[in-house]
Amino acid sequence: MNTSSASPQEIKELDQSDPLSAKRGEFLIPADIIYLNGNSLGPLTKNSQQRAQEVVQEQWGKDLIASWNTHAWIDLPFTAGEKIAKLIGAAQQQLVCCDSVSINLLKVLASALQMQPSRNLILSQEDNFPTDLYVAQGLETLLGAARCKVKTVAEPDLAQELDEDVAVLLLTQVNFRNGDKHDIERLTSMAKARGILVVWDLSHSVGVLPLQMDKWEVDFAVGCGYKYLNGGPGAPAFIYANKKHHEAIKQPIQGWMGHREPFTFDPDYKNAAGMAQFLTGTPPILSLAVMDSALDVFADITVTDISRKANALAELFLDLVKDDEDLHSLTLESKADSAFRGAQLAFSHPDAYGICRALNKASVVVDFRSPNIVRFGFSPLFLRFEDIWRATQIIKKIVKEKTYLADEFSLRLKVT
Ligand SMILES: *Cc1c(COP(=O)(O)O)cnc(C)c1O
Repeated sequence: MNTSSASPQEIKELDQSDPLSAKRGEFLIPADIIYLNGNSLGPLTKNSQQRAQEVVQEQWGKDLIASWNTHAWIDLPFTAGEKIAKLIGAAQQQLVCCDSVSINLLKVLASALQMQPSRNLILSQEDNFPTDLYVAQGLETLLGAARCKVKTVAEPDLAQELDEDVAVLLLTQVNFRNGDKHDIERLTSMAKARGILVVWDLSHSVGVLPLQMDKWEVDFAVGCGYKYLNGGPGAPAFIYANKKHHEAIKQPIQGWMGHREPFTFDPDYKNAAGMAQFLTGTPPILSLAVMDSALDVFADITVTDISRKANALAELFLDLVKDDEDLHSLTLESKADSAFRGAQLAFSHPDAYGICRALNKASVVVDFRSPNIVRFGFSPLFLRFEDIWRATQIIKKIVKEKTYLADEFSLRLKVT
């Protein structure tokens, strides 16, 4: 018997007193779906839908190439970048919105290494998001180990590995699998004391956790546009570079958009000042415009409120599943204390894949993460407390009745 779980009346009150409740109306989410996957692909906003139509039909369709100037397409990497700056505690002119996280990481890591001529180590965590490690490994192959060597260690060993050989500390704040959260301020200051530059990947943090890039004296950061920022599939990512480094940046994917004067068609590359030097080729305007409009959803709210609600949603979820005998086969892999995790909960189960498929079929959209994790994401802008209650009821039913063992749920799809 579980006597301490929130009652339907209490859940109703949580929704009624939610300062973000009106935000759901700014999204287009199918009525029957409980979307616990905003951390993988944020849903479509009405703003973005309208903007996509406007850019395609009115701007590209009617104004053609003049739109680069008349509709300020050329400025979009910075227009969108400044909106992201407000979400990560960065003063103006330190953000640009472009390319993917992977590509941005290459630019930033190569820049940071060149600022550390007497050191060659990139230190990271062995369970960092794989693309971050792949990019660092690619740089090692390209530059040779004398110039770039990647070292990965387990999370508990990070602090003791911060020594004078390390050029760059590359970490993701929130672990994609279990949601473990790093203390950026603490690790950044430890690194700084040993002359190490830091690169933070904010992909699972931006738009849902309070961040203070400037105050914490972070050197560089990158992050994803299609998760909590709801920028759309393959949305452009972003780069933060602390102003104090702008003079020293040398990023290797030099392209005309990062040139000081792209339209003089100078045969020699001369990098632009500031964040523009991180640009490479022509920005994908359709994606970037959609991203830019998605960011407007954040204009009149605070990340503190967003983060508080994310925690409350996850706490309610935990409250509703705890002490349920049918769910004992699910093991919580995330930190129980919300201070040490991002806006997600991960549970392991031997049949995690089947459970995810069965949940998705029952309209509770969640992620499977190899090898055995069911991942629930709590995007506060469109989720209601009532959704959490409904989701947990469905989870209980599926696990209790072992629906997930049906043959139809065993076949692995291409994207999991
Ligand atoms: C989602 C995610 C990425 C995405 O990288 P892309 O190159 O933009 O596909 C990178 N790093 C982390 C930690 C992520 O969670």
